[in-house]
Amino acid sequence: MTNSSLWEQENQEKLRDDYFYRCAHGIQNDYVYPIRRIICEGCGNIFYTMVPVKKYCNERCCYLGFWKHKREKRLTMRKDTVCKTCGNTFTPKRSDAVYCSNACRQKAYRQSVTTNGKCSK
Ligand SMILES: [Zn+2]
Ligand SMILES: [Zn+2]
Repeated sequence: MTNSSLWEQENQEKLRDDYFYRCAHGIQNDYVYPIRRIICEGCGNIFYTMVPVKKYCNERCCYLGFWKHKREKRLTMRKDTVCKTCGNTFTPKRSDAVYCSNACRQKAYRQSVTTNGKCSK
């Protein structure tokens, strides 16, 4: 595995040429061995690989990409919330956020204070 990825890194030009040759001639990609053109999820560089599940150009990118992925996953896990004060939909920075901004939170706080202060009974 390590040997093959090292080989890939040293033979990017050959793999790229093969890839384009196959595309140009309509050769089935898995006819000899599959070459995939991937955009590294770590550094964004284009990389050519023969490893079917590869997503990163090297181990460093794999490590970086892993954390990036984890961060993004955490971000998407947060659901959009409707602000209790202004009714706008917003993406909370914290999972327990109820208001879209400090202003709305303060407004809500002031409202609750005046409501409680009033003698409504
Ligand atoms: Zn990379
Ligand atoms: Zn709001």
